[in-house]
Amino acid sequence: IPVDAFDLVIFGGTGDLARRKILPGLYRRFWAGQMPDEARIIGAARTDQDVAAFRTMVAEAIAEFVSERKRDADCIKRFLDCIDYVTLDARGEAGWKELKSKCRANTVQAFYFSVGPGLFGDIAERLRSFKIARQDARIVVEKPFGRDLATAKELNRELSANFDESQIYRIDHYLGKETVQNLMAVRFGNVLFEPLWNAQYVDHVQITVAETVGVGGRGAYYDKSGAMRDMVQNHLMQLLCLTAMEPPAKFDPDAVRDEKLKVIRALDPVEADDIVRGQYREGAEPGYLQDVENPDSRTESFIALKCHISNWRWKGTPFYLRTGKRMAARMSEIVVHFKPTPHSIFGEEAGTKANVLSIRLQPDEGIDLSVTIKEPGPGGMRLMDVPLDMSFAEALGEEAADMPDAYERLIMDVMRGNQTLFMRGDEVEAAWAWTDPLIEAWTRRGSKPCSYAQGSTGPEEAMMLMHKDRRRWRELE
Ligand code: NAD
Repeated sequence: IPVDAFDLVIFGGTGDLARRKILPGLYRRFWAGQMPDEARIIGAARTDQDVAAFRTMVAEAIAEFVSERKRDADCIKRFLDCIDYVTLDARGEAGWKELKSKCRANTVQAFYFSVGPGLFGDIAERLRSFKIARQDARIVVEKPFGRDLATAKELNRELSANFDESQIYRIDHYLGKETVQNLMAVRFGNVLFEPLWNAQYVDHVQITVAETVGVGGRGAYYDKSGAMRDMVQNHLMQLLCLTAMEPPAKFDPDAVRDEKLKVIRALDPVEADDIVRGQYREGAEPGYLQDVENPDSRTESFIALKCHISNWRWKGTPFYLRTGKRMAARMSEIVVHFKPTPHSIFGEEAGTKANVLSIRLQPDEGIDLSVTIKEPGPGGMRLMDVPLDMSFAEALGEEAADMPDAYERLIMDVMRGNQTLFMRGDEVEAAWAWTDPLIEAWTRRGSKPCSYAQGSTGPEEAMMLMHKDRRRWRELE
């Protein structure tokens, strides 16, 4: 179903994110018939160029980032007709009147802040003072949303000085993934899981976001941030919330976000012994310290931690989170390990198995449940695990190949005015309020990250974090 006609202004329209994700994503929605010909996408950035030059840039981005099957010449031409450009200085006066003249009165109006957070306040203020943004305008902001509670509060203050919370869409692209929404469908659309979704039946939960890449060209930025700020505070925290939250009464934005917020507020502080930080060392590729050109850096490129949620549902079930760069595989998953049966009627020799539900986000999205059956053959009653696999690619065939990526889906949600998959201001602040003391504690102690080999599963110490609880991390594959 196509969305209504819209004007989407992309501040930072010439930047890396716009080129790689936003513009190709919009094109794919146009190709799929979801973005109407009447829509306008207006790039707004400092680069002094005309519309033709910006359209050329957009055409190049499509050529580079959209699969050949979707690149049909007529469709590209019609899409480029929707593209406009304004040279504009977020901190000055130039370009704003021109931008105003391009915005129409009777369309959905959205402003995507694809610029560093240092410019959020300037842009928000000018959108209001130049009377560009209407009362019902939608504001989309990117991560990082602050680097601690104080800066996140300041960003929220700058935005809320000019816009209502119901207008603000804070992007966490993990929430746009098909499987993340499927996690909610599995939990709340089946009777099978929810009765078991608690500390009585769940032994522990593992959430992993492993990357094979290093910090690449983002070294200087990353070194000021680290895995805790860059990944845990936002992406892993969101996945944890969706896994652990109570069933909302309705699938509506505030009902879902209220429940997520309660999870964050119920998180206990993490003990120092339950956090392992790591840095990848030199190997086939340069090590972290070379990548960030800072031989004394104590910033982590890997983190593993164990946390507890103090509420009736989860008391006693640990949640283990880990994320890192230059690891053995690119893999994101949420894995719910159920407890073994309370008593085995088959005796010890049959072996004890427990159900495992894994929700894969990367590389191929899908849900997999391991169930216990009898080993085939006449060898007596021995138990084994078999997967009940629901890989979307197989189950949905053609449709899976056409599944929109996270950015596309989220941008269309903005156009529909649906905030369910966007973070609310109080959620972001609560996540920082939990994160800040952990970072402060290790900074105060001056603790150094442990070293780990490139292409590994992280430092030995992260294995020990599990082993001391008689558990193991899932294989990275
Ligand atoms: P970038 O440096 O490639 O692009 C920045 C854009 O902002 C350019 O279009 C530039 O012209 C514009 N700009 C800068 N100063 C301006 C000013 N004073 N007035 C008007 N325009 C100005 O950055 P990026 O990688 O596209 O990232 C944009 C934001 O998105 C950042 O906050 C980044 O952290 C975030 N982000 C980026 C990615 C990514 O994959 N690149 C992913 C997640 C979040």
